[in-house]
Formats: sequence, C-alpha cells, structure tokens
Amino acid sequence: SPSIPHKLVVANWKMHGNLARNQVLIKEYLQALNPLAQTKVVVCVPYPYLAQIQILLANTGVAWGAQNLAKFEQGAHTGEVSAEMLKDFGAQYVIIGHSERSTAYCESDENIAEKFMMAKRHGLTPILCVGETLLEREAGVMTRVVGKQLETIIRLFGAGAFAESIVSYEPIWAIGTGLAASAEQAVAMHQFIRDTVAAADSAAASTLKILYGGSVNPQNAVQLLNQKEIDGALVGRCSLDAEQFIKICQAV
Ligand code: PGA
Repeated sequence: SPSIPHKLVVANWKMHGNLARNQVLIKEYLQALNPLAQTKVVVCVPYPYLAQIQILLANTGVAWGAQNLAKFEQGAHTGEVSAEMLKDFGAQYVIIGHSERSTAYCESDENIAEKFMMAKRHGLTPILCVGETLLEREAGVMTRVVGKQLETIIRLFGAGAFAESIVSYEPIWAIGTGLAASAEQAVAMHQFIRDTVAAADSAAASTLKILYGGSVNPQNAVQLLNQKEIDGALVGRCSLDAEQFIKICQAV
C-alpha cells in the first residue's frame, strides 16, 4: 500500500572485499532482492570499488555510495576524495562521521558537520552517524552526546540541512559487538533525534530518515525495522553475507 513508507537498508562493507568477492556478493544480492519490495537498498563500498559497483548496480534499483568524503572541494589534499569524484562514479549516498573514523582519526563534530554540508551541496545524500559510548549511556548522558552532534550542524548550517537527509543512530557499544540496542532504546533515541531537528525546523524533520545501526542481524531486524520510528538500518558485518543481508532487507 502506498501508505507504507519505504524502509531503507544500507550495507556498509567497511574495509572488506576484493573485485572477485564483490562481484559474487552483488550477484547474490540481486538474485534475491525484489525491486518492488518495501525496502530500498544502498551499498556503501571502499573508494576503489566505486567504479566496479557502478557497473554492477547500474539500472538495478539498488543505489550505492561511499563511506567518507573530503571536506574540501578539490586541491592539495593528498589522500582525500571529493564529493565530485564520488558523483563521477554515480554515488548518491555517503556515510559521514562513522565512529570507526571519528575515533581513529579524531574527527570533531565540526569537521563532520562540514563534510555533511559538502555532501548536501553536491546533491549527495549524507548518512550522518551519531551515537554514544557505553560509558556515556551508563552515565545517562546519551541524549546530550547525540544532541551535541546534531546541534553542531544546526548551529553552523541551520536545521534545514536535515531535509531529505539521513541520520543513523549508532550506539558505539553496539557496533560490531553482537549486542544491538533494544527496539525500545532505539525508538527512544530516534524520537529524540527527530524532536531535536523538529524543534529547529519541523518541515526538515518530516523528510529526515532515521536509521538504526549496530549489530543488526536477521533476528533482531524484524523487531527493529517494524517500529514506525525506525526508517531503516545500517548494516555492517551482516552485509558481507548475502543470505543474512537479504533476510534483513526482507524483515519489514
Ligand atoms: P555492525 O556495523 O553491523 O557490524 O555492527 C554497523 C555499523 O558500523 O554501522
């Protein structure tokens, strides 16, 4: 029914894959994915495989993207990849501020906000990762942490930036640990995220998609993805196994 909004499932391959394995994995995805299903699928790959994925996914209904981008337009920035380069390879999405990057490379909320705006300016849909550590949850300051991540973008660029954007709630304690947030915990944070954006710009908040990420698997996906507050999932480990990934996509 057209009243059921599309859920979005994003595969984050992280630093996995090679030409041969990617080809097999995508073939397996495509054999099982129903393009008319209520789930839209996006695959975020390492930079070198964008060219391959562009060919494999052209005209399939499955979209693709990258896992990071530069905050600069172009120039003397060795090792960086620009928004325009991603677009050259048909990318429509880009993950921004994943904790595996922000922790390892000390990316500040301001830096992440600039990357978010760079994606927007070039017509890429940013998938902004936000979330708290276990210590922060135990201290009960998780909404303060996530609130600050959102407020940085609101303060620097205005809440209108969240229109047609994606935020993924990724509690750091749930990423790659096998311990996903409960549907209750996720729903509460998703409501907080939407309310925070809505308080600044309700129109933007109404077109914002909020995903959950962190140890999503075929079992917990059923509960998580069928919450009306949860617009979809960002899937790491289980996206590398076609059978599990397809089950997640079909959990809606
Ligand atoms: P995971 O990764 O599914 O392997 O926990 C999720 C993520 O990093 O977004």
